[in-house]
Amino acid sequence: MSSLPKKTQVLIIGGGPAGSTAAALLARQGHHVTLFEKDKFPRYHIGESLLPTILPIIDLIGAREKMDKFGFQRKHGAYLEWGKETWALNFGELSGDATYAYQVTRAEFDEMLINHAAEQGAFVFQETEVRSLEFDGERPVRASWIRKSNNGTPLQGTIEFDFMIDASGRNGLMANHYLNNRKYHQVFQNVGVWGYWKNTDRLATGREGDIAVGSIPDGWLWGIPLSDGTMSIGAVVHKDSIKAQRGQSLDQIYEKALQASPLMQRITKDAELISPVVSETDYSYASERFCGPGYFLTGDAACFLDPLLSSGVHLATMSAMMAAASITSIFREEVGEEEAQSFFESSYRQAYLRFLVFLSAFYDVGRTKESYFWEAQRITQQDVPADHLKFAFLNLVTGVKDLEDVQTTGTHHVIMEEMTKRIDDNLKYRKDKLKLATLDGDELKNARANANFFDSVEGMFTLDAENAVNGLYVQTKPVFGLGRTNVSR
Ligand SMILES: Cc1cc2nc3c(=O)[nH]c(=O)nc-3n(C[C@H](O)[C@H](O)[C@H](O)COP(=O)(O)OP(=O)(O)OC[C@H]3O[C@@H](n4cnc5c(N)ncnc54)[C@H](O)[C@@H]3O)c2cc1C
Repeated sequence: MSSLPKKTQVLIIGGGPAGSTAAALLARQGHHVTLFEKDKFPRYHIGESLLPTILPIIDLIGAREKMDKFGFQRKHGAYLEWGKETWALNFGELSGDATYAYQVTRAEFDEMLINHAAEQGAFVFQETEVRSLEFDGERPVRASWIRKSNNGTPLQGTIEFDFMIDASGRNGLMANHYLNNRKYHQVFQNVGVWGYWKNTDRLATGREGDIAVGSIPDGWLWGIPLSDGTMSIGAVVHKDSIKAQRGQSLDQIYEKALQASPLMQRITKDAELISPVVSETDYSYASERFCGPGYFLTGDAACFLDPLLSSGVHLATMSAMMAAASITSIFREEVGEEEAQSFFESSYRQAYLRFLVFLSAFYDVGRTKESYFWEAQRITQQDVPADHLKFAFLNLVTGVKDLEDVQTTGTHHVIMEEMTKRIDDNLKYRKDKLKLATLDGDELKNARANANFFDSVEGMFTLDAENAVNGLYVQTKPVFGLGRTNVSR
Protein backbone atom coordinates (compact mmCIF):
# COMPACT_ATOMS: atom_id res chain seq x y z
CA MET A 1 0.00 0.00 0.00
CA SER A 2 1.28 3.46 -0.89
CA SER A 3 1.58 5.90 2.01
CA LEU A 4 -1.24 8.34 2.59
CA PRO A 5 -0.77 11.72 0.91
CA LYS A 6 -0.37 14.82 3.07
CA LYS A 7 -2.02 17.01 0.45
CA THR A 8 -4.57 16.43 -2.28
CA GLN A 9 -6.66 18.52 -4.65
CA VAL A 10 -9.93 16.81 -3.73
CA LEU A 11 -10.64 14.80 -0.60
CA ILE A 12 -13.62 12.47 -0.80
CA ILE A 13 -15.04 11.12 2.44
CA GLY A 14 -16.81 7.79 1.95
CA GLY A 15 -16.62 5.17 -0.79
CA GLY A 16 -20.30 4.34 -1.41
CA PRO A 17 -21.83 5.00 -4.85
CA ALA A 18 -21.58 8.79 -4.38
CA GLY A 19 -17.93 8.86 -3.28
CA SER A 20 -16.66 6.33 -5.82
CA THR A 21 -18.50 8.00 -8.72
CA ALA A 22 -17.08 11.42 -7.87
CA ALA A 23 -13.59 9.96 -7.38
CA ALA A 24 -13.63 8.17 -10.75
CA LEU A 25 -14.90 11.24 -12.62
CA LEU A 26 -12.35 13.62 -11.09
CA ALA A 27 -9.45 11.19 -11.49
CA ARG A 28 -10.38 10.78 -15.18
CA GLN A 29 -9.97 14.55 -15.51
CA GLY A 30 -6.42 14.23 -14.19
CA HIS A 31 -6.97 15.72 -10.72
CA HIS A 32 -5.25 14.45 -7.60
CA VAL A 33 -8.11 12.78 -5.74
CA THR A 34 -7.94 10.98 -2.41
CA LEU A 35 -10.83 8.86 -1.13
CA PHE A 36 -11.03 7.65 2.48
CA GLU A 37 -13.51 4.89 3.28
CA LYS A 38 -13.86 3.76 6.88
CA ASP A 39 -14.93 0.18 6.12
CA LYS A 40 -13.16 -2.64 4.31
CA PHE A 41 -15.00 -3.62 1.13
CA PRO A 42 -16.90 -5.75 0.30
CA ARG A 43 -19.25 -4.60 3.05
CA TYR A 44 -23.00 -5.06 3.38
CA HIS A 45 -25.33 -2.19 2.44
CA ILE A 46 -29.06 -1.97 1.83
CA GLY A 47 -30.35 -0.27 -1.36
CA GLU A 48 -30.39 -2.90 -4.08
CA SER A 49 -32.83 -1.75 -6.73
CA LEU A 50 -31.42 0.74 -9.25
CA LEU A 51 -33.08 3.06 -11.76
CA PRO A 52 -32.11 3.11 -15.47
CA THR A 53 -30.27 6.44 -14.92
CA ILE A 54 -27.44 4.39 -13.43
CA LEU A 55 -26.42 3.46 -16.99
CA PRO A 56 -25.42 6.94 -18.28
CA ILE A 57 -23.42 7.43 -15.07
CA ILE A 58 -21.71 4.08 -15.47
CA ASP A 59 -20.92 5.06 -19.08
CA LEU A 60 -19.48 8.35 -17.91
CA ILE A 61 -17.08 6.73 -15.44
CA GLY A 62 -16.11 4.13 -18.09
CA ALA A 63 -17.42 1.09 -16.20
CA ARG A 64 -20.21 -0.08 -18.52
CA GLU A 65 -18.41 -3.17 -19.74
CA LYS A 66 -17.58 -4.23 -16.16
CA MET A 67 -21.15 -3.60 -15.06
CA ASP A 68 -22.72 -5.50 -17.94
CA LYS A 69 -20.29 -8.41 -17.50
CA PHE A 70 -20.69 -8.60 -13.74
CA GLY A 71 -23.87 -10.61 -13.97
CA PHE A 72 -26.13 -8.48 -11.79
CA GLN A 73 -29.83 -9.21 -12.18
CA ARG A 74 -31.31 -7.15 -15.01
CA LYS A 75 -34.46 -5.22 -14.14
CA HIS A 76 -36.86 -4.16 -16.87
CA GLY A 77 -39.47 -2.51 -14.71
CA ALA A 78 -41.65 -2.84 -11.65
CA TYR A 79 -44.82 -4.62 -10.63
CA LEU A 80 -47.01 -2.90 -8.08
CA GLU A 81 -50.11 -3.99 -6.23
CA TRP A 82 -50.77 -0.53 -4.93
CA GLY A 83 -53.99 0.15 -3.08
CA LYS A 84 -56.74 -1.02 -5.40
CA GLU A 85 -54.51 -0.81 -8.47
CA THR A 86 -52.27 -3.29 -10.21
CA TRP A 87 -49.53 -1.60 -12.14
CA ALA A 88 -46.99 -3.30 -14.42
CA LEU A 89 -44.35 -0.80 -15.39
CA ASN A 90 -41.91 -1.33 -18.24
CA PHE A 91 -38.99 1.07 -18.35
CA GLY A 92 -39.06 3.06 -21.55
CA GLU A 93 -42.48 1.86 -22.72
CA LEU A 94 -43.82 5.40 -23.03
CA SER A 95 -40.66 7.28 -23.95
CA GLY A 96 -38.65 4.60 -25.76
CA ASP A 97 -35.31 4.96 -24.00
CA ALA A 98 -33.74 3.69 -20.76
CA THR A 99 -35.19 0.21 -21.03
CA TYR A 100 -33.36 -1.54 -18.22
CA ALA A 101 -31.55 -1.15 -14.93
CA TYR A 102 -30.08 -3.60 -12.43
CA GLN A 103 -30.85 -5.15 -9.07
CA VAL A 104 -27.52 -5.37 -7.27
CA THR A 105 -25.99 -6.87 -4.18
CA ARG A 106 -24.52 -3.68 -2.82
CA ALA A 107 -21.47 -5.38 -1.32
CA GLU A 108 -20.42 -6.35 -4.86
CA PHE A 109 -21.65 -3.24 -6.66
CA ASP A 110 -20.00 -0.82 -4.22
CA GLU A 111 -16.75 -2.83 -4.30
CA MET A 112 -16.77 -2.77 -8.11
CA LEU A 113 -17.21 1.03 -8.05
CA ILE A 114 -14.53 1.75 -5.44
CA ASN A 115 -12.02 -0.48 -7.26
CA HIS A 116 -12.92 1.21 -10.51
CA ALA A 117 -12.25 4.63 -8.95
CA ALA A 118 -8.78 3.41 -7.96
CA GLU A 119 -8.19 2.08 -11.47
CA GLN A 120 -9.07 5.51 -12.89
CA GLY A 121 -6.26 7.02 -10.79
CA ALA A 122 -7.94 8.04 -7.52
CA PHE A 123 -5.90 7.31 -4.37
CA VAL A 124 -8.29 5.08 -2.45
CA PHE A 125 -7.71 4.09 1.16
CA GLN A 126 -10.13 1.70 2.84
CA GLU A 127 -10.35 1.20 6.60
CA THR A 128 -9.49 4.87 6.90
CA GLU A 129 -11.93 7.05 8.78
CA VAL A 130 -12.07 10.82 8.72
CA ARG A 131 -12.49 11.82 12.35
CA SER A 132 -12.50 15.61 12.20
CA LEU A 133 -12.09 18.63 9.97
CA GLU A 134 -10.29 21.94 10.36
CA PHE A 135 -11.60 25.11 8.79
CA ASP A 136 -10.29 28.38 7.46
CA GLY A 137 -13.37 30.47 8.23
CA GLU A 138 -16.23 28.45 6.74
CA ARG A 139 -13.93 26.55 4.38
CA PRO A 140 -12.79 23.05 5.38
CA VAL A 141 -9.07 22.78 4.60
CA ARG A 142 -7.64 19.85 6.54
CA ALA A 143 -8.94 16.46 7.73
CA SER A 144 -7.68 14.17 10.49
CA TRP A 145 -7.84 10.46 9.70
CA ILE A 146 -7.31 7.23 11.59
CA ARG A 147 -6.65 3.74 10.20
CA LYS A 148 -5.64 0.29 11.33
CA SER A 149 -2.03 -0.72 10.83
CA ASN A 150 -0.71 -4.23 10.27
CA ASN A 151 0.40 -4.57 13.90
CA GLY A 152 -2.96 -3.40 15.24
CA THR A 153 -1.78 0.00 16.49
CA PRO A 154 -3.93 2.70 14.86
CA LEU A 155 -2.20 5.09 12.48
CA GLN A 156 -3.28 8.71 12.47
CA GLY A 157 -2.52 11.69 10.30
CA THR A 158 -3.87 14.73 8.52
CA ILE A 159 -4.44 15.67 4.91
CA GLU A 160 -4.87 19.11 3.35
CA PHE A 161 -7.13 19.70 0.36
CA ASP A 162 -8.48 22.35 -1.99
CA PHE A 163 -11.98 20.84 -2.18
CA MET A 164 -13.86 18.27 -0.18
CA ILE A 165 -16.75 16.05 -1.22
CA ASP A 166 -18.66 14.68 1.73
CA ALA A 167 -20.02 11.30 0.62
CA SER A 168 -20.20 9.84 4.11
CA GLY A 169 -23.81 8.68 3.70
CA ARG A 170 -26.25 8.91 6.57
CA ASN A 171 -23.34 9.49 8.98
CA GLY A 172 -23.19 12.93 7.38
CA LEU A 173 -19.87 14.20 8.74
CA MET A 174 -20.38 17.83 7.67
CA ALA A 175 -24.15 18.08 8.16
CA ASN A 176 -24.25 16.34 11.54
CA HIS A 177 -20.99 17.47 13.13
CA TYR A 178 -20.21 20.89 11.68
CA LEU A 179 -23.17 22.47 9.88
CA ASN A 180 -25.81 20.99 12.19
CA ASN A 181 -28.34 21.66 9.48
CA ARG A 182 -29.94 18.30 8.74
CA LYS A 183 -33.73 18.71 8.88
CA TYR A 184 -35.98 15.68 9.21
CA HIS A 185 -39.32 15.89 7.41
CA GLN A 186 -42.60 15.50 9.25
CA VAL A 187 -43.55 12.93 6.63
CA PHE A 188 -41.87 9.65 5.75
CA GLN A 189 -40.75 8.89 9.29
CA ASN A 190 -40.67 5.22 8.46
CA VAL A 191 -38.71 2.17 9.45
CA GLY A 192 -37.43 -0.52 7.06
CA VAL A 193 -37.50 -4.16 8.23
CA TRP A 194 -36.07 -6.80 5.92
CA GLY A 195 -34.53 -10.21 5.31
CA TYR A 196 -33.33 -12.51 2.49
CA TRP A 197 -35.21 -15.51 1.11
CA LYS A 198 -34.58 -18.48 -1.11
CA ASN A 199 -37.01 -20.45 -3.28
CA THR A 200 -39.31 -17.47 -3.78
CA ASP A 201 -41.63 -17.27 -6.77
CA ARG A 202 -39.58 -14.92 -8.92
CA LEU A 203 -42.21 -14.89 -11.65
CA ALA A 204 -45.02 -13.65 -9.41
CA THR A 205 -44.42 -10.20 -10.90
CA GLY A 206 -44.98 -11.60 -14.38
CA ARG A 207 -41.35 -11.14 -15.43
CA GLU A 208 -38.01 -12.25 -13.98
CA GLY A 209 -35.99 -9.42 -12.52
CA ASP A 210 -38.64 -6.79 -11.80
CA ILE A 211 -39.06 -5.27 -8.37
CA ALA A 212 -42.34 -6.24 -6.66
CA VAL A 213 -44.05 -3.61 -4.55
CA GLY A 214 -47.15 -4.27 -2.49
CA SER A 215 -49.03 -1.85 -0.26
CA ILE A 216 -50.47 -2.84 3.11
CA PRO A 217 -52.56 -0.75 5.55
CA ASP A 218 -49.46 0.03 7.64
CA GLY A 219 -47.07 0.75 4.76
CA TRP A 220 -45.64 -1.19 1.84
CA LEU A 221 -43.24 -4.01 0.98
CA TRP A 222 -40.51 -4.54 -1.59
CA GLY A 223 -39.35 -7.79 -3.21
CA ILE A 224 -36.04 -7.48 -5.06
CA PRO A 225 -34.78 -10.56 -6.95
CA LEU A 226 -30.98 -10.83 -6.82
CA SER A 227 -28.63 -12.61 -9.20
CA ASP A 228 -27.66 -15.32 -6.68
CA GLY A 229 -31.25 -16.59 -6.72
CA THR A 230 -32.20 -15.02 -3.40
CA MET A 231 -34.73 -12.25 -2.88
CA SER A 232 -34.49 -9.23 -0.63
CA ILE A 233 -37.90 -8.70 0.94
CA GLY A 234 -38.54 -5.70 3.13
CA ALA A 235 -41.35 -3.79 4.75
CA VAL A 236 -41.55 -0.04 5.24
CA VAL A 237 -43.85 0.96 8.09
CA HIS A 238 -44.40 4.16 10.00
CA LYS A 239 -42.42 4.57 13.22
CA ASP A 240 -45.66 4.94 15.20
CA SER A 241 -46.86 1.59 13.95
CA ILE A 242 -43.60 0.01 15.19
CA LYS A 243 -44.09 1.76 18.54
CA ALA A 244 -47.66 0.51 18.77
CA GLN A 245 -46.33 -3.05 18.39
CA ARG A 246 -44.07 -2.71 21.43
CA GLY A 247 -43.52 -6.13 22.97
CA GLN A 248 -43.49 -7.82 19.56
CA SER A 249 -40.14 -9.05 18.22
CA LEU A 250 -38.76 -7.70 14.94
CA ASP A 251 -39.47 -11.11 13.40
CA GLN A 252 -43.11 -10.87 14.46
CA ILE A 253 -43.48 -7.35 13.09
CA TYR A 254 -41.95 -8.50 9.81
CA GLU A 255 -44.13 -11.59 9.62
CA LYS A 256 -47.26 -9.52 10.24
CA ALA A 257 -46.36 -7.11 7.43
CA LEU A 258 -45.74 -10.02 5.02
CA GLN A 259 -49.05 -11.59 5.90
CA ALA A 260 -50.90 -8.37 5.14
CA SER A 261 -49.68 -8.43 1.53
CA PRO A 262 -51.31 -10.93 -0.86
CA LEU A 263 -48.43 -10.25 -3.31
CA MET A 264 -45.74 -11.18 -0.78
CA GLN A 265 -47.77 -14.17 0.31
CA ARG A 266 -47.64 -15.46 -3.26
CA ILE A 267 -43.94 -14.72 -3.58
CA THR A 268 -42.96 -16.44 -0.32
CA LYS A 269 -45.46 -19.34 -0.46
CA ASP A 270 -42.80 -22.07 -0.75
CA ALA A 271 -39.86 -19.95 0.30
CA GLU A 272 -37.49 -19.98 3.23
CA LEU A 273 -36.10 -17.02 5.14
CA ILE A 274 -32.32 -17.50 5.15
CA SER A 275 -31.09 -14.44 7.03
CA PRO A 276 -31.78 -12.68 10.29
CA VAL A 277 -34.44 -9.97 10.07
CA VAL A 278 -32.86 -6.53 10.43
CA SER A 279 -34.21 -3.01 10.61
CA GLU A 280 -33.09 0.52 9.92
CA THR A 281 -34.88 3.82 10.32
CA ASP A 282 -35.36 5.45 6.97
CA TYR A 283 -36.58 8.86 8.03
CA SER A 284 -36.38 11.33 5.18
CA TYR A 285 -34.23 14.43 5.65
CA ALA A 286 -32.40 17.18 3.81
CA SER A 287 -29.62 19.53 4.85
CA GLU A 288 -30.44 23.21 4.67
CA ARG A 289 -27.41 23.71 2.44
CA PHE A 290 -25.88 21.16 0.09
CA CYS A 291 -22.60 23.01 -0.44
CA GLY A 292 -20.49 25.93 0.72
CA PRO A 293 -16.96 27.30 0.40
CA GLY A 294 -14.71 24.41 -0.65
CA TYR A 295 -17.22 21.60 -0.05
CA PHE A 296 -20.09 19.67 -1.66
CA LEU A 297 -22.42 17.23 0.12
CA THR A 298 -23.43 14.30 -2.08
CA GLY A 299 -25.80 11.35 -1.77
CA ASP A 300 -27.18 10.52 1.66
CA ALA A 301 -24.70 12.93 3.26
CA ALA A 302 -26.93 15.69 1.85
CA CYS A 303 -30.44 14.23 1.80
CA PHE A 304 -32.38 11.01 1.98
CA LEU A 305 -35.80 9.92 0.77
CA ASP A 306 -38.06 7.02 1.61
CA PRO A 307 -36.97 4.15 -0.72
CA LEU A 308 -40.33 3.60 -2.48
CA LEU A 309 -39.06 5.03 -5.78
CA SER A 310 -35.56 3.48 -5.54
CA SER A 311 -34.14 7.00 -5.75
CA GLY A 312 -31.18 6.62 -3.33
CA VAL A 313 -28.39 5.45 -5.63
CA HIS A 314 -29.72 7.66 -8.44
CA LEU A 315 -29.51 10.80 -6.28
CA ALA A 316 -26.13 9.70 -4.88
CA THR A 317 -24.49 9.19 -8.28
CA MET A 318 -26.19 12.16 -9.92
CA SER A 319 -25.09 14.54 -7.15
CA ALA A 320 -21.57 13.06 -7.34
CA MET A 321 -21.53 13.78 -11.06
CA MET A 322 -22.69 17.37 -10.47
CA ALA A 323 -20.09 17.92 -7.73
CA ALA A 324 -17.31 16.49 -9.90
CA ALA A 325 -18.38 18.61 -12.91
CA SER A 326 -18.44 21.72 -10.67
CA ILE A 327 -14.99 21.08 -9.19
CA THR A 328 -13.27 20.24 -12.46
CA SER A 329 -14.71 23.39 -14.09
CA ILE A 330 -13.60 25.51 -11.11
CA PHE A 331 -10.06 24.09 -11.47
CA ARG A 332 -10.11 24.89 -15.19
CA GLU A 333 -11.39 28.40 -14.36
CA GLU A 334 -14.44 27.94 -16.55
CA VAL A 335 -16.74 28.92 -13.69
CA GLY A 336 -16.29 30.73 -10.41
CA GLU A 337 -16.69 28.78 -7.20
CA GLU A 338 -19.81 30.66 -6.11
CA GLU A 339 -21.43 30.17 -9.49
CA ALA A 340 -20.72 26.44 -9.39
CA GLN A 341 -22.10 26.22 -5.85
CA SER A 342 -25.25 27.97 -6.89
CA PHE A 343 -25.68 25.50 -9.78
CA PHE A 344 -25.06 22.51 -7.51
CA GLU A 345 -27.36 23.74 -4.75
CA SER A 346 -30.28 24.48 -7.10
CA SER A 347 -29.90 21.37 -9.27
CA TYR A 348 -29.52 18.91 -6.45
CA ARG A 349 -32.38 20.43 -4.48
CA GLN A 350 -34.53 20.33 -7.63
CA ALA A 351 -33.75 16.65 -8.14
CA TYR A 352 -34.56 15.90 -4.52
CA LEU A 353 -37.78 17.94 -4.40
CA ARG A 354 -39.09 16.38 -7.60
CA PHE A 355 -38.87 12.96 -5.98
CA LEU A 356 -40.34 14.27 -2.75
CA VAL A 357 -43.41 15.67 -4.50
CA PHE A 358 -43.79 12.56 -6.65
CA LEU A 359 -43.41 10.29 -3.65
CA SER A 360 -46.08 12.06 -1.67
CA ALA A 361 -48.51 12.08 -4.58
CA PHE A 362 -47.76 8.41 -5.22
CA TYR A 363 -48.57 7.54 -1.63
CA ASP A 364 -51.80 9.45 -2.07
CA VAL A 365 -52.77 7.35 -5.11
CA GLY A 366 -52.28 4.18 -3.07
CA ARG A 367 -54.44 5.34 -0.19
CA THR A 368 -57.32 2.91 0.18
CA LYS A 369 -58.70 4.03 3.49
CA GLU A 370 -57.97 6.70 6.04
CA SER A 371 -55.28 4.62 7.70
CA TYR A 372 -52.74 6.49 9.78
CA PHE A 373 -49.78 5.41 7.65
CA TRP A 374 -51.15 6.86 4.44
CA GLU A 375 -52.38 10.03 6.11
CA ALA A 376 -48.99 10.55 7.70
CA GLN A 377 -47.26 10.55 4.29
CA ARG A 378 -48.64 13.89 3.16
CA ILE A 379 -46.10 16.61 2.80
CA THR A 380 -46.93 19.82 4.57
CA GLN A 381 -45.76 23.40 4.52
CA GLN A 382 -43.31 22.42 7.27
CA ASP A 383 -41.64 19.85 5.02
CA VAL A 384 -41.32 22.02 1.96
CA PRO A 385 -42.31 25.67 1.72
CA ALA A 386 -44.98 26.22 -0.95
CA ASP A 387 -42.63 28.30 -3.15
CA HIS A 388 -40.04 25.47 -3.25
CA LEU A 389 -42.77 22.99 -4.09
CA LYS A 390 -44.13 25.25 -6.80
CA PHE A 391 -40.65 25.72 -8.26
CA ALA A 392 -40.04 21.96 -8.33
CA PHE A 393 -43.41 21.26 -9.85
CA LEU A 394 -43.28 23.97 -12.49
CA ASN A 395 -39.87 22.75 -13.54
CA LEU A 396 -41.34 19.33 -14.02
CA VAL A 397 -44.09 20.56 -16.27
CA THR A 398 -42.32 23.12 -18.40
CA GLY A 399 -44.19 23.40 -21.66
CA VAL A 400 -47.49 22.13 -20.31
CA LYS A 401 -50.17 24.77 -20.65
CA ASP A 402 -52.93 23.68 -18.29
CA LEU A 403 -51.33 24.92 -15.14
CA GLU A 404 -52.83 28.30 -14.51
CA ASP A 405 -54.04 27.35 -11.03
CA VAL A 406 -50.58 26.27 -10.01
CA GLN A 407 -48.98 29.37 -11.52
CA THR A 408 -51.31 31.71 -9.71
CA THR A 409 -52.03 30.00 -6.39
CA GLY A 410 -49.29 27.39 -6.13
CA THR A 411 -50.59 25.96 -2.87
CA HIS A 412 -49.65 22.52 -1.63
CA HIS A 413 -53.16 21.37 -2.23
CA VAL A 414 -53.32 22.42 -5.90
CA ILE A 415 -49.86 21.11 -6.71
CA MET A 416 -50.41 17.74 -5.08
CA GLU A 417 -53.74 17.38 -6.89
CA GLU A 418 -52.07 18.13 -10.23
CA MET A 419 -49.34 15.63 -9.47
CA THR A 420 -51.82 12.95 -8.47
CA LYS A 421 -53.75 13.53 -11.69
CA ARG A 422 -50.58 12.89 -13.70
CA ILE A 423 -49.87 9.69 -11.83
CA ASP A 424 -53.44 8.57 -12.48
CA ASP A 425 -53.01 9.32 -16.19
CA ASN A 426 -49.77 7.38 -16.25
CA LEU A 427 -51.48 4.45 -14.61
CA LYS A 428 -54.21 4.56 -17.25
CA TYR A 429 -51.68 4.56 -20.11
CA ARG A 430 -49.68 1.70 -18.72
CA LYS A 431 -52.59 -0.45 -17.69
CA ASP A 432 -53.85 -1.42 -21.09
CA LYS A 433 -50.72 -2.54 -22.94
CA LEU A 434 -52.65 -3.51 -26.05
CA LYS A 435 -54.20 -0.07 -26.32
CA LEU A 436 -50.87 1.56 -25.55
CA ALA A 437 -49.32 -0.17 -28.54
CA THR A 438 -51.95 1.28 -30.88
CA LEU A 439 -52.14 4.89 -29.59
CA ASP A 440 -52.04 7.61 -32.21
CA GLY A 441 -52.88 11.30 -32.69
CA ASP A 442 -53.59 13.31 -29.55
CA GLU A 443 -53.63 10.25 -27.35
CA LEU A 444 -50.10 9.39 -28.41
CA LYS A 445 -49.01 13.00 -27.88
CA ASN A 446 -50.53 13.04 -24.40
CA ALA A 447 -48.91 9.71 -23.51
CA ARG A 448 -45.52 11.08 -24.60
CA ALA A 449 -46.03 14.33 -22.65
CA ASN A 450 -46.90 12.23 -19.63
CA ALA A 451 -43.78 10.09 -20.14
CA ASN A 452 -41.61 13.20 -20.41
CA PHE A 453 -43.11 14.40 -17.17
CA PHE A 454 -42.04 11.20 -15.40
CA ASP A 455 -38.63 11.30 -17.05
CA SER A 456 -38.18 14.71 -15.44
CA VAL A 457 -38.61 13.12 -12.03
CA GLU A 458 -36.48 10.05 -12.53
CA GLY A 459 -34.21 11.30 -15.30
CA MET A 460 -31.02 13.33 -15.37
CA PHE A 461 -32.21 16.78 -16.30
CA THR A 462 -28.86 18.35 -15.44
CA LEU A 463 -27.30 16.63 -18.48
CA ASP A 464 -29.59 18.57 -20.76
CA ALA A 465 -28.65 22.07 -21.96
CA GLU A 466 -32.36 22.82 -22.46
CA ASN A 467 -32.97 22.30 -18.75
CA ALA A 468 -29.95 24.35 -17.66
CA VAL A 469 -30.08 25.62 -14.09
CA ASN A 470 -28.80 29.20 -13.72
CA GLY A 471 -27.47 28.86 -17.31
CA LEU A 472 -25.31 25.83 -16.42
CA TYR A 473 -25.61 22.11 -17.06
CA VAL A 474 -23.36 19.06 -16.90
CA GLN A 475 -21.56 18.72 -20.20
CA THR A 476 -20.08 15.34 -21.06
CA LYS A 477 -18.53 16.16 -24.46
CA PRO A 478 -16.00 17.24 -25.68
CA VAL A 479 -14.81 17.45 -22.07
CA PHE A 480 -16.59 16.65 -18.83
CA GLY A 481 -17.49 19.69 -16.73
CA LEU A 482 -20.09 22.45 -16.51
CA GLY A 483 -21.40 23.79 -19.81
CA ARG A 484 -22.98 27.18 -20.35
CA THR A 485 -26.08 27.80 -22.40
CA ASN A 486 -25.75 31.54 -22.86
CA VAL A 487 -22.05 32.08 -23.52
CA SER A 488 -19.97 30.37 -26.16
CA ARG A 489 -17.00 28.63 -24.61
C1 LIG B 1 -34.48 0.41 3.98
C2 LIG B 1 -33.78 1.06 2.84
C3 LIG B 1 -33.97 0.59 1.53
C4 LIG B 1 -33.34 1.21 0.45
N1 LIG B 1 -33.56 0.74 -0.82
C5 LIG B 1 -32.99 1.36 -1.89
C6 LIG B 1 -33.17 0.88 -3.21
O1 LIG B 1 -33.83 -0.14 -3.45
N2 LIG B 1 -32.58 1.56 -4.22
C7 LIG B 1 -31.81 2.67 -4.02
O2 LIG B 1 -31.32 3.27 -4.99
N3 LIG B 1 -31.60 3.14 -2.76
C8 LIG B 1 -32.16 2.50 -1.70
N4 LIG B 1 -31.90 2.95 -0.43
C9 LIG B 1 -31.04 4.14 -0.28
C10 LIG B 1 -29.56 3.81 -0.52
O3 LIG B 1 -29.14 2.82 0.37
C11 LIG B 1 -28.72 5.08 -0.32
O4 LIG B 1 -29.39 6.21 -0.81
C12 LIG B 1 -27.34 4.99 -1.00
O5 LIG B 1 -26.58 3.95 -0.45
C13 LIG B 1 -26.58 6.32 -0.84
O6 LIG B 1 -25.26 6.22 -1.31
P1 LIG B 1 -24.09 7.11 -0.64
O7 LIG B 1 -22.87 6.83 -1.44
O8 LIG B 1 -24.58 8.49 -0.50
O9 LIG B 1 -23.94 6.56 0.84
P2 LIG B 1 -23.47 5.11 1.35
O10 LIG B 1 -23.77 4.09 0.32
O11 LIG B 1 -24.09 4.93 2.69
O12 LIG B 1 -21.90 5.25 1.50
C14 LIG B 1 -21.32 6.06 2.47
C15 LIG B 1 -19.96 5.48 2.82
O13 LIG B 1 -19.26 6.43 3.64
C16 LIG B 1 -18.50 5.72 4.60
N5 LIG B 1 -18.22 6.65 5.70
C17 LIG B 1 -19.10 7.20 6.57
N6 LIG B 1 -18.48 8.04 7.42
C18 LIG B 1 -17.16 8.04 7.07
C19 LIG B 1 -16.02 8.71 7.58
N7 LIG B 1 -16.11 9.56 8.60
N8 LIG B 1 -14.81 8.47 7.01
C20 LIG B 1 -14.70 7.61 5.95
N9 LIG B 1 -15.76 6.94 5.45
C21 LIG B 1 -16.99 7.16 5.99
C22 LIG B 1 -19.39 4.55 4.98
O14 LIG B 1 -18.66 3.48 5.52
C23 LIG B 1 -20.03 4.20 3.63
O15 LIG B 1 -19.34 3.17 2.95
C24 LIG B 1 -32.50 2.33 0.67
C25 LIG B 1 -32.28 2.77 1.98
C26 LIG B 1 -32.91 2.17 3.04
C27 LIG B 1 -32.66 2.68 4.44
